[in-house]
Amino acid sequence: MKKAVFPGSFDPITLGHFDIIERGVKLFDELIIAIGINADKKYMFSLEERKSFIEKAFKDEPKIKVLTYQGLTVNFCKEQNVEFILRGLRNPADFEFEKAIAHTNRKLSEIETVFLLTSSGKSYISSSIVRDVIINNGDYTGLVPDAVSVKK
Ligand code: ADP
Repeated sequence: MKKAVFPGSFDPITLGHFDIIERGVKLFDELIIAIGINADKKYMFSLEERKSFIEKAFKDEPKIKVLTYQGLTVNFCKEQNVEFILRGLRNPADFEFEKAIAHTNRKLSEIETVFLLTSSGKSYISSSIVRDVIINNGDYTGLVPDAVSVKK
């Protein structure tokens, strides 16, 4: 069984993530969306909210599981018996950043990283831009799946 982990903060999940997940799930028998917990990071949405947005967005996709983890992604992959990490690439900055992480992960383990290029029209979307729009009372709904809702 081919399993992959798609790791990230998902604060919140965006249409950019959604696109990579929808396309990535076709390549694997199971895709674990793994929300990394970093105690030093301040998040806009709680872990429960971030998890529930993703679960709602993919409620009709049985191949997708949503889990949380702490520590190294490769250790989480080993625990889950996963051989692949899925990541999205938006631009040259992503490429350089992701390249270093993928090389490091290969040094630490046998785990391969599989990259999907962002869909045209989605490359500008990031969680940080979505958070900015939300903080400034802008209309964020065209940037995130319908499952994401902000409490007023
Ligand atoms: P992190 O907190 O680890 O940066 P993110 O939640 O920002 O995680 O992103 C997780 C993954 O989703 C990364 O591989 C990132 O490149 C990818 N991603 C985010 N937005 C997009 C997008 N608009 N198009 C393609 N991939 C994206």
